[in-house]
Amino acid sequence: EARIEELEKKMSVKTYATVKFLNYQSRKKILITGGAGFVGSHLVDYLMKEGHEVIVADNFFTGRKHNVQHWIGHQNFELISHDIVNPLYIEVDEIYHLASPASPIHYMQNPVKTIKVNTLGTINMLGLARRVGAKILIASTSEVYGDPDLHHHPQTETYWGHVNPIGPRACYDEGKRVAETLSYAYAKQEKVDVRVARIFNTYGPRMHFNDGRVVGNFILQALKNESITIYGDGKQTRSFQYVSDLVDGLAALMKSNYTQPVNLGNPQEHSIQEFAEIISGLVGVKTKTEHLNSVEDDPQRRKPDITRAKNLLNWEPKISLKKGLQMTIEYFRNELESENMGRVK
Ligand code: NAD
Ligand code: UDP
Ligand code: UDP
Repeated sequence: EARIEELEKKMSVKTYATVKFLNYQSRKKILITGGAGFVGSHLVDYLMKEGHEVIVADNFFTGRKHNVQHWIGHQNFELISHDIVNPLYIEVDEIYHLASPASPIHYMQNPVKTIKVNTLGTINMLGLARRVGAKILIASTSEVYGDPDLHHHPQTETYWGHVNPIGPRACYDEGKRVAETLSYAYAKQEKVDVRVARIFNTYGPRMHFNDGRVVGNFILQALKNESITIYGDGKQTRSFQYVSDLVDGLAALMKSNYTQPVNLGNPQEHSIQEFAEIISGLVGVKTKTEHLNSVEDDPQRRKPDITRAKNLLNWEPKISLKKGLQMTIEYFRNELESENMGRVK
């Protein structure tokens, strides 16, 4: 234990050393809701290193303190334990609104709460932005496109989507759609400066271990040399982006003057069956698969059209699937090891 503590102390000294110095005029005060989660914590790292003041508001439903632990104690960092469904009165220059469960298992666990976070929570953040005149970026999702029809592939931002309003995924999909509607209502009526990022499937270190999503499941199954569980025939497709690419995109969108929705994702598309093979190959095991029942309302294909982000933000993903998966597999290996050693996080 003492040795671990010593290592962690060293790590935070190293992290602190990477923080740029910004003078008072260029240093911003930035709120990240859901900043203790997977994506949020990487955004915290990015903005802290840029030299800004970062405030995280999180209720730790799916996030964990461990993800931002290396910043606790830094003078530019503050962690507030707060449920975003309740109002929050603070003074900030920018808001990244990420608070919401993101994986089907988590958001279906309490669908009513999922709707509240994305509606009431978003109203609160837009109200805060309005009061203090802050820019606000809403983390929306490719799920606003639902199960896209064949004519809308890849998905462009002009597609209105194909969502079942009363299906099991509706609490999340419709919640995010209302979050977008609210953003443009506040922009029009209250002149709030909004940014809307439609985020496609993202993976990387600090993603959840057991949230039932495909990348985590497949890596864990391959590492344990278990059969890989494929829901349905495995022909359904997804396109995965590495988390650092997403963070770059979010920061670029916030900086830009563009207020309409922007897709952020990696257009490299694979079937789920192919994913099983790629991941087993990288872990170094033979692919063993097990076909289970398909999931209700499972989108059959998903691939972002990122022309808008390329043209307007000069952004495109840089990390290849192979490199990103290698880094993620490494993370999972270490986590498994420390779990086996009985460390609690
Ligand atoms: P995550 O579950 O790791 O992070 C969400 C964070 O929000 C967690 O820290 C959680 O504790 C917090 N949170 C949840 N409800 C809250 C509440 N009521 N009050 C305060 N905090 C609350 O998920 P993530 O993958 O980091 O996703 C972040 C955002 O990006 C979400 O809005 C999600 O919808 C969106 N998104 C993610 C993906 C993806 O593939 N990861 C894809 C599309 C969109
Ligand atoms: N709000 C908040 N922090 C603020 C300002 C507002 O959390 O600094 C919340 C508050 O709960 C309010 C909501 O945001 O109900 C919407 O604010 P708005 O000003 O749009 O509406 P109103 O205050 O009239 O309800
Ligand atoms: N999936 C699968 N096996 C798993 C987990 C997921 O075949 O163990 C499939 C799932 O049916 C879906 C795809 O992988 O078609 C992506 O699922 P995930 O839950 O990761 O994300 P989302 O559906 O939200 O894109």
